[in-house]
Amino acid sequence: MDNNTQTTKTISLERYGIKNAKLYYQLSPEELHEISIKKGLGVQASSGALAVNTGEFTGRSPKDRFIVKDDITKDRVWWGNINIPFDADKFDKLYSKVVNYLSNKEIFVRDSYACADENYKLSIRVINEYPWSNQFAYNMFLRPTDEELNNFNPQWTVVNAPGFMANPDVDGTRQHNFAILDFSKKIALIGGTGYTGEIKKGIFSALNFILPVFKNTLPMHCSANVGKNGDTAIFFGLSGTGKTTLSTDPNRSLIGDDEHGWTNENTVFNFEGGCYAKVINLSRDKEPEIYDAIKKGAILENVILDDNGVVDFANTTITQNTRVSYPIHHIENIKVPSIGKNPKNIFFLTADAFGVIPPISKLTPSQAAYHFISGYTAKVAGTEAGVVEPVPSFSACFGAPFMPLHPAKYAEMLSDKMVKSGVNVWLVNTGWTGGPYGVGKRMELKYTRAMINAVLNGDLGLYNYDDYHIHSVFGVAQPRTCPGVPTSVLSPRATWNNDEAYYTTAFKLTNAFRENFKKFEAHCSEEIRRGGPQRYAF
Ligand code: ATP
Ligand code: MN
Repeated sequence: MDNNTQTTKTISLERYGIKNAKLYYQLSPEELHEISIKKGLGVQASSGALAVNTGEFTGRSPKDRFIVKDDITKDRVWWGNINIPFDADKFDKLYSKVVNYLSNKEIFVRDSYACADENYKLSIRVINEYPWSNQFAYNMFLRPTDEELNNFNPQWTVVNAPGFMANPDVDGTRQHNFAILDFSKKIALIGGTGYTGEIKKGIFSALNFILPVFKNTLPMHCSANVGKNGDTAIFFGLSGTGKTTLSTDPNRSLIGDDEHGWTNENTVFNFEGGCYAKVINLSRDKEPEIYDAIKKGAILENVILDDNGVVDFANTTITQNTRVSYPIHHIENIKVPSIGKNPKNIFFLTADAFGVIPPISKLTPSQAAYHFISGYTAKVAGTEAGVVEPVPSFSACFGAPFMPLHPAKYAEMLSDKMVKSGVNVWLVNTGWTGGPYGVGKRMELKYTRAMINAVLNGDLGLYNYDDYHIHSVFGVAQPRTCPGVPTSVLSPRATWNNDEAYYTTAFKLTNAFRENFKKFEAHCSEEIRRGGPQRYAF
């Protein structure tokens, strides 16, 4: 499926309004790597990977992400501060400005696909101002064969102009950067930001609308892998909770690391053709597969290198969100094509900086629906006069910024599929243990991996009442023992050594859950509401 050969095919950019561009169509990753270095837009790291700086933006900008309000979207999208409406006329005017800006420049164009399942394939043309952004598209989207390329008919177009700055006073944007989806024209228009994640999450957002509305398929912000017996596991979670880390497992074949669809034909398929891993504090010792994937073809973002091109993964001078993108075949054990059967186990990952959620627990169907709608993780707030307090962060469906529809729509689809497939759902705290951030420490990766392996090997079946303990605050089933994990780690309360402090903090968190859930209550059945925590502070 991978295609590094050069195509003889030619295309024209005139139809996009881009005039007199020097067009580079479908260049190989090697060529893009070379061009980026020649232009001084990147350097080669000692591993062979290309290292670039994405510029002003080193992360997505959710407040600058808009959807054009038109006949397709107006009655379907859940409008608000997540899905911010954009005027269709304003879009046309801004689009003209962007393509004018791109005219007379060198432009890099790549044809690619999203969705590994033939029945759902979406053809995408990516038009980039920068060569390394185009290489990112090579890494992250599915790569067409020569034959597919010859018959290529782009359904969606990504126009990506990091150097174009909008004028908010006339253009209708909030500030100079923007990522706007137009479902009528099928365009993702991105400007003012070089952060590559906007490209992949732009198409993800489009699919999160298209698949449930037109294809009866549930799109999910999750990673997925499959065991030797064909058992699929999927991992939901907000940024930094471990989707990429935990799905990359030498004993299981990787289906994909971030975006999947669950069809009515009982299959799960990857949208993408690559991985986009965080590299903060990356070590070969703890994450060998990801570490070794960083070689020629991979693109490192916003890392610091020494004079010999060696990356200092602990250096967060530019950002904490240092990243690498690589095509999925940089990982040894992958599923080809990137499709699995109905999941047998679903993991909800949360990095609980309060340190009160059990490291692993089993959820009832009501609890699963409740936690999916809540989408909890915690952020660690900046230090102010030495005070470090975790801040709860709720993001519906573990991916609200990419979900154009009301969360209840995705939750209904998930609940329905969970019940029909009899899947087991587990809540995994990859965050803090032994106390909150500042007191306790991050759960050891080897323990989290051991807990997940125990589930996948059928060792945490919770067959008897005595096997587990119902958590008095969260109501979830907490196993008493787990192979490869010290028993003391399994009870968060026990790791604190201070019951009073533990419960006070737990109630702080359950109150935050209750507060957050208020906006969904009207849309949720009694059954789902019952899945919430059992005790709150009054
Ligand atoms: P995104 O949606 O932004 O891609 P993600 O869910 O894929 O985020 P990861 O890239 O897997 O998140 O990041 C998890 C980070 O947390 C990694 O840097 C990993 O090394 C670190 N980590 C530390 N302890 C754990 C643990 N117990 N479980 C999982 N990850 C851990
Ligand atoms: Mn990830």
